[in-house]
Amino acid sequence: MKNSDITQLLFKKTPFKLSLYIHIPFCRRKCCYCDFYSISGFLESTEKKVVQEILKQADHYLQTMDKASIESIFIGGGTPSLLKAENLSLLLGGINRLLGRRNRDQRAIEWTIEANPESLDKEFLQICAANSVNRLSVGMQSFDDDLLNKLGRLGSSKDNMRALDLVEKHWSGRVSIDLLAGIPGQKAKNLVEELNRLCSLSFIKHISLYTLTPLEGTLLDKQVNNQDQEEVWLQGSAALRSRGFNNYEVSNFCLPGEESLHNLRYWHLEPYLGLGPAAVSTLPGEQGDALRLFNPEDVNQFLSGNEGQNANLWGTTVERVPIRDFLFETLMMGLRLKRGIPIPLFSKRFDRSPEILIGGLLQEWRRRKLARSSHNYLALSARGRLHLDSLLVELSEYLDARAPIIDTALAGVLPFI
Ligand code: SF4
Repeated sequence: MKNSDITQLLFKKTPFKLSLYIHIPFCRRKCCYCDFYSISGFLESTEKKVVQEILKQADHYLQTMDKASIESIFIGGGTPSLLKAENLSLLLGGINRLLGRRNRDQRAIEWTIEANPESLDKEFLQICAANSVNRLSVGMQSFDDDLLNKLGRLGSSKDNMRALDLVEKHWSGRVSIDLLAGIPGQKAKNLVEELNRLCSLSFIKHISLYTLTPLEGTLLDKQVNNQDQEEVWLQGSAALRSRGFNNYEVSNFCLPGEESLHNLRYWHLEPYLGLGPAAVSTLPGEQGDALRLFNPEDVNQFLSGNEGQNANLWGTTVERVPIRDFLFETLMMGLRLKRGIPIPLFSKRFDRSPEILIGGLLQEWRRRKLARSSHNYLALSARGRLHLDSLLVELSEYLDARAPIIDTALAGVLPFI
């Protein structure tokens, strides 16, 4: 379907809050465990063209949307800190202009940008701050050079230390650090030391501790031992909790009030518009159903999709998300949260309470102490969150086995009305 047609399918002047995600598809070198879309070895001119097209795409979609409804912006990748200063200014200034955000008196919204330690410098921080970016997410992954080499990371522990120093001196916004647990050869004791060191820095109030998931069949994959991984992650998470960091989502920890608003909106499956190559959007359709838009995972296709008479603008494709899939996604994302899914949000979205739709399964999970009972939230226990992957398999099988009943119950339900 042509992109020009896609905007016809969207809910006009949406009354919903909205988030923007911008994908910067460039990395200096590909890390060996990464499955995010990015390219390396690109021409300098490509970087500028991609930024220009992202701004055109933003303009195209935002014309049909209420700009005041934007709650958060996230620039990820790839490596946004690789952008040349002029292209970074062009991108951030352009987004501010499109949103009509010209001065600092505007309502503050959470605006995050990702950075890698080796490409983070003072100028990058200054351009971000001058353009109202107020949250920085730095992918450090480890402070052990042997482990960083194993991951194929470009940055070293020295780069991490230099980046922390720069951020402390030249950045007044919020800061989140990404680390990995379960890298083959990683010692829990060393990870705990790294986490303690980060927690002692007062400007770090958010830490994401992900378990390494190597690409299937790779050397790294063969070296991974799941039990060791779980043990290292558990010790790391205990260290963070002992420093007052709340494990508010499966892999995310923060001090009180420091949650990522943008990611909370993802976990609640609230509408978001994705811009740039490989970016995905979830948006309300014109009838209140859920639409999913996919930009191509190919920079050239993204750039050439906007050319010529028969332009299929940016090569974007669209799908209507079947309501039973949307139910599964709402549960899959929301159950990642310690607090869980607000039952009023669930009941409004599906016109039925969770007990009516999946009561049998919830009862079984409660019996096995994997889910908690609450009037306001549908949530897993700490043990349930540890085994989320296998619970999602159970959920999927439960929904498949009762497909005719659930489909009848959800017939005509429009989640975004
Ligand atoms: S820098 Fe980040 S996005 Fe780029 S290849 Fe490495 S992990 Fe993937």
